[in-house]
Amino acid sequence: MTKIIAVFGATGAQGGSVAKALLEDGTFVVRAVTRDTSKPAAVKLKEAGVEVVAADLDDKKSLEAALSGVYGAFVVTNFWEHFSKDKEIAQGKLIADISKSLGLKHVVFSGLEDVKKQTGGKLEVLHFDGKGEVEVYFRSIGVPMTSVRLPSYYENILTFFRPKKSDDGKTYTLSIPMGDVLLDGMSVADLGHVVVSILKSPSEYAGKDIGLSTDKLTVEQYAAILSKATGKTIKDAKVSNIRCMLRQGAPF
Ligand code: NAP
Repeated sequence: MTKIIAVFGATGAQGGSVAKALLEDGTFVVRAVTRDTSKPAAVKLKEAGVEVVAADLDDKKSLEAALSGVYGAFVVTNFWEHFSKDKEIAQGKLIADISKSLGLKHVVFSGLEDVKKQTGGKLEVLHFDGKGEVEVYFRSIGVPMTSVRLPSYYENILTFFRPKKSDDGKTYTLSIPMGDVLLDGMSVADLGHVVVSILKSPSEYAGKDIGLSTDKLTVEQYAAILSKATGKTIKDAKVSNIRCMLRQGAPF
């Protein structure tokens, strides 16, 4: 029997990687979810033969339709679109409730640690904590769910953290607010293959939270790798204060 996987965020980085890997693997049939089926990324999926459906994580009816008849789903919520922990939790809980009522066999949720809970309220990281709360909710209502917790994407270095030209006009600086603390990373393009493996072995992975990382380096080490790859001199800017980055809306 055909097993359909609904892929949320299929027009974006995480869901796009998952849809691509599912297509390459061929075990499951992909149903890509977007709010706008006419946007270029959605059209590209349609051209690749993918079923593309319209649904909004804020709209119950559209979600029920998108998830009807599916075996499982990949779910990602996008904190950076609204910057609201409450909204992210509401979206996550809604999709969890619908997954439960429609009897989905396996959901892979893009979660993160609930930092506030883990530190007894000493630290609060809004884009982590909401996802952590949703992880717990999925389990509390009995949905077979695997959480994949992504580290900082390498791709961030090409976008938000793109090295800036120094005043000398020759060298570049990489400003990632980690001080000398190690930063886990991976390419978001590699997520899809991980999710396919998880979906193919539900008995092994349902109920687990899986932290992903393919490198754990200091910013200085990331800068050295970038220097080697580009032939330019890229130095760690030694930024340790994350507040200034968050004010600018860091997308991680
Ligand atoms: P992205 O490339 O910006 O794509 C966002 C996707 O979410 C789009 O496909 C969009 O679909 C979909 N979406 C947003 N709101 C939706 C809604 N209301 N209903 C249905 N679909 C909706 O984002 P991404 O990088 O894949 O994922 C962002 C998430 O990753 C954030 O929550 C962030 O905290 C988390 N994360 C990021 C990093 C990092 O290093 N950047 C690391 C770990 C975790 P349409 O616009 O087509 O509807």
